[in-house]
Amino acid sequence: MSKDSSLSQKSLDTILAHAGRDPLTFHGFVNPPVVHASTVLFPDVQTMLTAGQQYTYARRGNPTTDALEGALMEIEGAAGVKIANSGLNAIALAVLSCVKSGDHFLVADTSYGPTRHFADTVLPGLGVSVEYYDPGLGAGIKALFRPETTAVFTEAPGSLTFEMQDVPAIAAAAHDIDAMVLMDNTWASPLYCQPLSLGVDLSIQAGTKYIVGHSDVMLGTIAASERAWKGLDSFHGAMGCHVAPDDIYLALRGLRTLSVRLERHKRNTLSVLDWLKDLPQVSAIRYPALETDPGHALWKRDFSGSSGLCAFDFADGTTRDQAFAFLDALNLFGLGYSWGGFESLAIPVRLKGMRTASPFDPDRQSVRLHIGLEDPEDLIGDLDQALTNAFG
Ligand SMILES: *Cc1c(COP(=O)(O)O)cnc(C)c1O
Repeated sequence: MSKDSSLSQKSLDTILAHAGRDPLTFHGFVNPPVVHASTVLFPDVQTMLTAGQQYTYARRGNPTTDALEGALMEIEGAAGVKIANSGLNAIALAVLSCVKSGDHFLVADTSYGPTRHFADTVLPGLGVSVEYYDPGLGAGIKALFRPETTAVFTEAPGSLTFEMQDVPAIAAAAHDIDAMVLMDNTWASPLYCQPLSLGVDLSIQAGTKYIVGHSDVMLGTIAASERAWKGLDSFHGAMGCHVAPDDIYLALRGLRTLSVRLERHKRNTLSVLDWLKDLPQVSAIRYPALETDPGHALWKRDFSGSSGLCAFDFADGTTRDQAFAFLDALNLFGLGYSWGGFESLAIPVRLKGMRTASPFDPDRQSVRLHIGLEDPEDLIGDLDQALTNAFG
């Protein structure tokens, strides 16, 4: 969906409550209907052949997709938004909408693992040359530009290791050579970071995480700037993408409570990290909202809040067996991929093969936590007993 509108002056909390619904067009019901559809009927041949009505075929949009796309357009200040089948599908669509054979594509070394997998396995076959860059480069990324560089992929903070990026500096440099800038903004959600206002052209969300918020739907979103919108809309249409209306409805419902959920995720995370940071078994916390984090200044400048995803490193000398014993001893934290739901999760950080342009210590034992909506005292109790279990 697209329309010509500048970013609303309303507060984001108010937009979250009102965007994407127009009760009086649906008999006054507060929420938009879930439209299950394929065929759309036309009143006559003339209307059919001139596409002279709002909807023509469900794959190209219906009132349910419009509701979520319209809400996100307002939240992200976008020229247009498209919905994808998963976060990874949104990444693939956004990238493919702006690179072609012969192009050079720069990807942050700290990008989400499956983003790397897509870049490494799909793009070379299409004639796109992929180069990973150190996320700390900022404007220095210029040194890597080639005449055929057409797109730069960013993610902040980085997956698993939480490095911040100077996205505005990278965007300004990329725009000097007319390259598109993409950002995976899943960590902050559009509530706490607005990529398009930082100069990004394609702002990507794994809606699976905080937008849906309940671990029950997979969905992705792409919000485009004016210059990226036409290419995205056309490519998304050509690929025949379609997301089921029930899933879109659940994402729209998730948006309504995004702000209150994130507020609690943030508060709980700060409580848990405040306890973790002084433990002898822990050597570093990775969460840019903390003043001690190396990315704190960039986070403070570009973000308005922080979410529930963080990591910590065990003290030097911690063995893999000890780290795994800790994870196995957790009761409230589930062992599972994904995050952004109401529940707490933990995974071991495995960086093997995932860093090729920036340094990492392969022996370091780290854990990524998603801090859910449980009572933080209970979460601390669980971490405490698991540490005792693993370290004695
Ligand atoms: C989970 C995740 C994705 C992919 O989302 P899916 O819906 O699982 O495909 C993309 N980027 C980041 C940062 C993620 O955490």
